Amino acid sequence: MPTLADVVQELESLYDPRWAESWDAVGLVCGDPSAEVRKILFAVDPVAAVADEALDWGADLIVTHHPLYLRGTTSVAATTFKGRLVHTLIKNDVGLFTAHTNADVADPGVSDALARAVGLTGPLVPLQPAADDPRRGLGRIGSLPEPVPLAEFARRAADGLPATAGGLRVAGDPDRPIRRVAVSGGAGDSLLGAARAAGVDVFLTADLRHHPASEFVEAGGPALIDAAHWATEWPWLADAARRLTSASAARGITVETRVSETVTDAWNTTAKCEDFT
Ligand SMILES: [Zn+2]
Repeated sequence: MPTLADVVQELESLYDPRWAESWDAVGLVCGDPSAEVRKILFAVDPVAAVADEALDWGADLIVTHHPLYLRGTTSVAATTFKGRLVHTLIKNDVGLFTAHTNADVADPGVSDALARAVGLTGPLVPLQPAADDPRRGLGRIGSLPEPVPLAEFARRAADGLPATAGGLRVAGDPDRPIRRVAVSGGAGDSLLGAARAAGVDVFLTADLRHHPASEFVEAGGPALIDAAHWATEWPWLADAARRLTSASAARGITVETRVSETVTDAWNTTAKCEDFT
């Protein structure tokens, strides 16, 4: 039976913690390195619903994309939802491990899985290559097998991503032909300039704000598609689970993985303005 230390070693060989941004907090959050690990649940967010799912399934470890604590804390008392989560996990011998910006820039990483989910085929290259290794980096650029109108690409992207209350928001001429596509899982504001410079037909990401998006479109930039943050990162979970399973198997270690299907996007419902047409 592998230990948590064995599994962490495998995860860190796939998603090197040195690749993480300096402000990030990745790695093991709680768990005893000598504990045995058989069942591993992959999820985007370290939230109560995911912890419940882990307990129901009998998981020994949760691997999440988002960190539980990003800044220093002086208390894990169960007086906050984060402290309560730490208590729940420790009491039930469940570890928590985070691969965040180190998974974003990995090759393959979060945006490779997103690119495939929305129908990009062929080679993918980073939208913003890492300084130390241009094969890695943030976002990906790829192509569709043949051009399709923006509205059709958005429909296919919606089909390829897990469903969320908000769906996709699209900015640009619905008939615009789309062939070259840039994608970036999670908040993509900071990559708008790179998407414009790359000359792609559309940039699909999440958490875009009005002013940057409006100015981008007014200035003739690529079309924009804004998806739910959770949905853009979720496709990576299956890829990470698969890579961990095969890397472990190569070392004679057997682990059982599962991808959480609990939708933990913050936006869980919408209301339409009926007068707005
Ligand atoms: Zn994210």
